[in-house]
Parts: sequence; C-alpha cells; structure tokens
Amino acid sequence: MENRIILHIDMDYFFAQCEEREHPEIKGKPVVICVYSGRGGDSGAVSTSNYEARKFGIKAGIPISRAKKMNPEAVFLPVNKELYQDISDEVMEILRGFSQNIEQESVDEAFLDITGNVPDFEAAKELAAKIKNEIRSKTKLSCSVGVGPNKLIAKIASDFQKPDALTIVRPEEILQFLSPLKITDLIGVGKKTGERLNELGVRTIGDLSGMSAQDLIHEFGQAKGIWLKQASQGIDDSPVVGREGTEQIGRIITLKEDTIDPAIIRDAINVLSEEVYGKLAVRKLGFKSVTFVAISADFKTHTRNHTLETTAKDLDVIKTTANKLAQTFLSEHQVLLRRIGVRVANLKQEKGQMTLGEFNKKEIEYI
Ligand SMILES: [Mg+2]
Repeated sequence: MENRIILHIDMDYFFAQCEEREHPEIKGKPVVICVYSGRGGDSGAVSTSNYEARKFGIKAGIPISRAKKMNPEAVFLPVNKELYQDISDEVMEILRGFSQNIEQESVDEAFLDITGNVPDFEAAKELAAKIKNEIRSKTKLSCSVGVGPNKLIAKIASDFQKPDALTIVRPEEILQFLSPLKITDLIGVGKKTGERLNELGVRTIGDLSGMSAQDLIHEFGQAKGIWLKQASQGIDDSPVVGREGTEQIGRIITLKEDTIDPAIIRDAINVLSEEVYGKLAVRKLGFKSVTFVAISADFKTHTRNHTLETTAKDLDVIKTTANKLAQTFLSEHQVLLRRIGVRVANLKQEKGQMTLGEFNKKEIEYI
C-alpha cells in the first residue's frame, strides 16, 4: 500500500465536556455523566467523567453509588444523548470540510485520510493543528489528534497524551513510539489476550514484537497470531472507509425564549430545514427519514420521527414533514419548548454519483 497519512480525532472526555459547555457554572468541578438503569435511586453506571472527577478515581463503568462515595460533592448528571449528537454533528461537519475521506468511528471519534491533501508529515501536523483550532473556535471543545501512517498508529497516537494533545508519529518513528507502550495500548488487544501475554512475560509492545510469529500463532491461532505480530510492528493496511447509512445531518437551535407559539416554532423549523437542506445539497445527498427534536423548558428531550417511502431530496419534504411532526407533538404536549431541531437520516448519494462507501472501497489486504 502506498504511503498514507491518517488522522485520528478523539474529543476529550466528550459527554462531560459537552455538559461543561452547556452549564459553564460546573466547569472546574468534578463532573460525572451517569446512565441510570431506570430501577430507581442511584442504580446504574458512570458513562464518562471529566479529569477533575478522575482524580477521585471516578471513571467510566463504575457503579454510580460507588462514584458518589468517592466524591459526594461531584456534579452528577444523566446522559443527554440529543445534546451530544448535536455537538457530534457539528464536529463531523467541520472534519468533512477538511477531507471527504472520513470514517466516523463513534459519536466523538473519526479517522481522516489526508494522503491526497498534504505532501508530508510536516504539512499534516499543520493541518491537524488547524483542525484542532477550528473545532475549538466553532464548538468550544478540545480534542486530541493523532497523526500516523495508518489507522492503528493514528489511534494509539491520539490517546497518547490526552487531553488537548497533538501527537505525530512518522513512519521512521513507529517502532520507537510503540516499543515502551503496554500491550493493551495496542488497539485490538483486549483484556483476555493482554492477560495471556502477561503470563507469557510479554508486557510491552516491544516485548510482543520480539516474539516470533510462529509462537504467536501457536498461542493464539493463525489469524490472531499474524495480526499480533504485524500490529506490534505498527503494520496496518486497513483503509479509511466511510460508513453509509449511519450518518445523520441535523441542526438544533435554542429559541429566543421558551415558547409554545406554533408560528414561532414553524418559522424556526423552516430556518432549520433550510440549513439541513444546504448541507445535503452540497454533498448531493438524499434522505429517507426526518426527525423533529424538541427540548422542553424542563430539559426533557422529545423526538418525533417519520420514515418516507422513498428517498427524497427536496427542501419542501423536510419542511412539510418536520412541521407535521411538530404539530402532532404540540397537540399531544402542552409544554414550553426551549430548543428545537430538525434532523434527516438514512442518507443516500443521488444517482450517478459514487457513494462515499464505494469511493473509499479499496481492497482490504489486511491479514
Ligand atoms: Mg473521546
């Protein structure tokens, strides 16, 4: 495979950072985002915490009740998926402005293949800094970026010195970079494999690269053994692949004041629809589902969704569908609305255009 330059962008403590942005008064305090199980009380687990909370040992996965014992003064908030999705859309749109060759990995992570955009790693470093700045100025959030010759290295690099970091690993620096890292830092090595390798006396990625492929195959089987050997040397040919069908395009705004006035809501929906349509039109995308999002004055999020029979591409369809969904919602709920949004999904490239997926599909010569 030709020499590539890949970026991995990872938003820092994303959910908690989104909440800090929405509620500036909690900034500087330990913030813990919780997934409540719905069984009442503090039953549930921590989803994310900010760095102040991590100082108390509060991290993702631990029970909420335990986190409360670790620091009863921390700010505990329930997950607000609509807010995170909205900010995620903003971030992904910024990234798309830099390269169409993008693979969104999760709500707050993405790979960009910028091989065709920059001549070398120096220019890649400048571009990565520019991306960080633009994300900060437009969303007020920090992220960490890794730059490397493939996805594996870029992803390990973005995690290397969080938060707000930029780590470049040039091809000639791969072995030196990987060698001292723990084997579980190698993306793809899970807890079980890590434990087995530890038993074999293998602690660092350097130790792992010292093992023979034969021994690794003997221990883990053909596919995994070969993968471990290659990964320990920083070899990864997996391409950056756009995932069609998972993307959504939307906009949410905060209304000037909390309202239930249908005329104000209709005007806002029309403006939002035009913005969403603008984003679709630039990329020649059609859509098959429309969602109306309403966040009431008590911060509850409501969504109403409609799936069309066929893929549409007209502004009118967005406007009409979103307004109908809003009318139905308002007839059922007499609540003041604080924010409203319009979102489209099930996106499809218009006929005659190559889809992002097809465009990026290269032969996977993985193992
Ligand atoms: Mg993250």
